[in-house]
Amino acid sequence: MRKLASVQKIKALHAIEGADAIERASVLGWQLVVKKGEYKVGDLVVYCQIDSLLPDKPEFDFLKPRGMRIRTIRLRGQISQGICFSLSILPEDFEIYEDADCTEVLGIIKYEPPIPACLSGIVKGKFPSFIPKTDETRVQVLQKVLDKYKGEKCYVTEKLDGSSATYYLKDGAFGVCSRNLELLEDTENSFWKVARQLDIENKLRVLNKNIAIQGELIGEGIQDNKLKLRGQTVKFFNAFDIDQFEYLNYADFIALFKESDLPIVPIVALDYALENDIDAIIKKATIKSLILKDVWAEGIVIRPYREKIDLLLSNENFNNGRVTFKAINPEFLLKYGE
Ligand code: ATP
Ligand code: MN
Repeated sequence: MRKLASVQKIKALHAIEGADAIERASVLGWQLVVKKGEYKVGDLVVYCQIDSLLPDKPEFDFLKPRGMRIRTIRLRGQISQGICFSLSILPEDFEIYEDADCTEVLGIIKYEPPIPACLSGIVKGKFPSFIPKTDETRVQVLQKVLDKYKGEKCYVTEKLDGSSATYYLKDGAFGVCSRNLELLEDTENSFWKVARQLDIENKLRVLNKNIAIQGELIGEGIQDNKLKLRGQTVKFFNAFDIDQFEYLNYADFIALFKESDLPIVPIVALDYALENDIDAIIKKATIKSLILKDVWAEGIVIRPYREKIDLLLSNENFNNGRVTFKAINPEFLLKYGE
C-alpha cells in the first residue's frame, strides 16, 4: 500500500501569477496549492496524496462536497495534487520525523474504483506466488531513484487505464489471473473471454516453457472505456520467465510478443535518457493517447532496456524492487475527477 499520508517537508514555495491569497508548494515531487503565508520553506507538515479518502471527522468537513477524497484540482491555472495539514492534526504521542507514515493513525484509506461484474469472475485461489503482481510506483516519490539512474537508457510506454491481467503456463497448466486473484474459467468473465479470443493458451504452449505474460485489459465496460474501443482486448507490458524468476529484457519482450502475434502497450519513446527532473517527466506524461488521439493518455511507464532490481523502489509501495515507474498525466486526472 502507498504511503498516502506522511510527514513531509515544504521543499519550496512559489508565487502563482495573478493570485495573492495562494501559493504553490513543492512536497516530495508533488506540486500543490496552499494558503499564502501558512507555511515556510523547511516546515514539516502532514501531506496527503491524491486518492486519500479522509475519515468523517469535523476537521475534514470541508471535503464533504468532494466525497472526502483528495483529487487533482486546478486553481488559478495551477494544478494542485494533494493537501497539507499542520502537524497538530496528529495524535500527541505520534513520533514525528520526515517521511513518517501517518495514514493509519489519521484513519485514511485509499479510494478504489468499484469493480464491474465482467471482471470479478469466479475465484480459483490467491494470486500465484511464482509470479510477481503488477504494480508501478509514482515518480513523485522516487527522487532517489532518479538521482541514481539519471541518464539510463529507457523506453517509455503509454499507461492504459484498464484492469491488470496475467496469463501463465506452468508445468503444462494454463492460468488466468486478475490483479490479485487467480480465476476459474467461465464464459462471462472478461479475462477468460479475451484469453480465448486471442488464443493465448495455445500461443503460450508454443513457447514451450514456464512463462507468464501480463497486460492491461481494456475496452467496453472497463474504466468507462475512455479510449472508446469496441469489445475488449489486452495490451501486454510484461513477459516473465517463471523458472528464472525474472522479467525479460526489452528486446526479448518485444521478440516474444512479435512471435506470438499478441498486442503490446503503445510505445511512446525509445532511447529515452532518464531525466533527473520530476516536473519534466510529468510534462512528458502529459500527452494524448496513441490509441485514440483526441483523448488524454492516463500517463506513461518508464523502464530501462535492461531489467534492474533495486530495493530503493520497494520503499514506497509494496513492490518487488523492479526499476520501473509511472508518471500519471495530471490533465487526465483533472478531466476524470481523480
Ligand atoms: P497506486 O499504486 O498509484 O496507489 P494502483 O496500484 O492501483 O495505484 P495503477 O494506477 O493501477 O496503480 O498502476 C499500476 C498498474 O498499471 C499496473 O498494475 C498495470 O496493470 C497498469 N498498467 C497500465 N499500462 C501499463 C504499462 N504501459 N506498463 C506497466 N503497467 C501498466
Ligand atoms: Mn500501486
